[in-house]
Amino acid sequence: MSRSIRLAVIPGDGIGPEVVAQGLKVLGSVLPSDVKLETREYDLGARRWHATGETLTGVELDSLKQHDAILLGAVGDPSVPSGVLERGLLLKLRFAFDHYVNLRPAKLFPNTATPLAGRPDIDFVVIREGTEGPYVGNGGTMRTGTPHEVATEVSVNTALGVERVVRDAYERARSRPRRKLTLVHKNNVLVHAGHLWKNIFDRVGQEYPEVTTDYLHVDAATIFFVTDPGRFDVIVTDNLFGDILTDLAAAVTGGIGLAASGNINPDGTFPSMFEPVHGSAPDIAGTGKADPTATVLSVALLLRHLGFEAEAARVETAVAEDVTARDGSFRTTDQIGDALVSRVLAGSVTG
Ligand code: ATP
Ligand code: MG
Repeated sequence: MSRSIRLAVIPGDGIGPEVVAQGLKVLGSVLPSDVKLETREYDLGARRWHATGETLTGVELDSLKQHDAILLGAVGDPSVPSGVLERGLLLKLRFAFDHYVNLRPAKLFPNTATPLAGRPDIDFVVIREGTEGPYVGNGGTMRTGTPHEVATEVSVNTALGVERVVRDAYERARSRPRRKLTLVHKNNVLVHAGHLWKNIFDRVGQEYPEVTTDYLHVDAATIFFVTDPGRFDVIVTDNLFGDILTDLAAAVTGGIGLAASGNINPDGTFPSMFEPVHGSAPDIAGTGKADPTATVLSVALLLRHLGFEAEAARVETAVAEDVTARDGSFRTTDQIGDALVSRVLAGSVTG
């Protein structure tokens, strides 16, 4: 385990800087005193784009690469044309740093409101492929602007790309108590990509006899997310299906204020990036209403990724306690951050 962490911080826009400040506060409180935390801030996002017209320069990319991990708040604003920051910053980082595992835990904490009837036991993790599928930008338009315009958006799936994410999913499934892995795709219609995924899933599975496997079409999976979410443990899926399923997972586990994610390069060749699932929420920026919990849970994922398992668990326990103790009264972003720090510090004494 490294005894120093070089952390790149991208606070971003809207509530991004507000929630990142709380995440850093909790990170500082949980790290053992002999671990040196070096942070460097990067001014990226909508504000920067308006000021300079730049999204992410090659120099910045090289500089980000020198870190152990990246913590991102949120970038974006309605004033920036759709796609500029997504393609020019977020996807650029994902491809440059080969973040082929997008990890999104879905856990329903006690005392959290869920739109589901009853209180199902929800504790699963979605592993979304991050570098292939329909996100590669392979396509174009022909006869543009005519009534016969044609647009293509080709989904690219490579054996190497599918195998590495599937393997990562088996590894994660093996390390969890239930040891169950579900592949979600649509191989009855998307037969080319679907069969590649299914064949590789089955072949790699022979190396993991202790993991129980299951296959669901994506449309059936959306039904079970609502009617029987307890059946899931680890899910591995394609880039686009994963995007949609993880928003649904966030909705049924108490909403966007609690949903954390990691864009992970499991090989460790490049820094992995951790961020709340929510966006910059310009409507509540500056009001103190932003819940920093999703960012704090993303910090827990970051800690675990860097080998600080005990510290990650302490942060998650602090969050579980805080969420369970909520009584509906208003607390500011800062107050929630302080409460989490107190619980983390109390946890270090008792456990
Ligand atoms: P983006 O395009 O960046 O995903 P968005 O508008 O789709 O942005 P969010 O920025 O995630 O979505 O915000 C959606 C709504 O959820 C916001 O209007 C805000 O009221 C609420 N929201 C988002 N994040 C939080 C948070 N951390 N705490 C409280 N409310 C939040
Ligand atoms: Mg959104």
